[in-house]
Amino acid sequence: MKLSGRTAIVTGGSRGIGRSIVQALAKEGAKVAFVYRSNKEAADQLVSELELDQREVLAIQADVASSEEADRVVKEVIEKWEKVDILVNNAGIIRDGLLATMGPEQWQDVITTNLTSVYNFCHAVVRPMMSARYGRIINMSSVAAEFGNSGQVNYAASKGGIEGLTRCLAGELARRNITVNAVAPGFIETDMTTDVVNAAGDQIKKQIPCKRLGLPEDISNAVLFLAADESSYITGQSIKVDGGLTLGG
Ligand code: NDP
Repeated sequence: MKLSGRTAIVTGGSRGIGRSIVQALAKEGAKVAFVYRSNKEAADQLVSELELDQREVLAIQADVASSEEADRVVKEVIEKWEKVDILVNNAGIIRDGLLATMGPEQWQDVITTNLTSVYNFCHAVVRPMMSARYGRIINMSSVAAEFGNSGQVNYAASKGGIEGLTRCLAGELARRNITVNAVAPGFIETDMTTDVVNAAGDQIKKQIPCKRLGLPEDISNAVLFLAADESSYITGQSIKVDGGLTLGG
């Protein structure tokens, strides 16, 4: 198993892409703590499923937008498992709307949940990782970081911010054997995209060169690669996993 002896934190692990990441890391032998916000039932169900398979997994309720809660999560994991080798900043939300009608709360909710959360968790893990001289940080971006999608100024700004943070932090940590990368998904079938897929799924598929929507496993496979020892010479990058959506042409 590729991640035997490693410990990981995954934010937003109860559903969708995060859930698939938790499953993938645990299957490769990592001990995985995942954060969820409110969906305790889904979190408990994932813990039961993985424990049945003899995996070590921990569900922690926390709001990723709070730096105190990020510190609490990291402290709890280090007290239990002594270290954090892998951090996957996956939690995210959308609150779409045209800027003309977007109130400050709608802006702030997305920026704090999607972007400030990445600062919160990186800040909480970075010193222990530096002391251990090992780390893998993977941040969930989106193709929206470079698309000019109407109605997503808050979301695109948060994801563009994540990509900038990823590059800067990669430079700061490279000499300590810590890599920092992003994964930028295209259209993935999760709760986040249910409405848009129901409304225009066939139309969207036509625009994707691979002619299908992505599955959470398409993303967790890329995360698994970046989390493993073999990716040690890749840092500061954003890998698009989008079925060719951003190729143009
Ligand atoms: P989902 O809506 O399916 O799941 C979101 C997850 O984030 C849930 O586990 C949720 O917890 C958690 N979460 C949300 N807000 C908070 C918070 N404040 N504190 C703690 N946890 C929180 O999303 P996806 O799986 O679709 O998306 C995962 C990531 O991938 C996001 O960053 C998203 O922006 C990105 N992405 C997704 C794409 C897609 O097509 N689906 C495309 C591009 C990027 P709970 O279950 O408790 O609510």
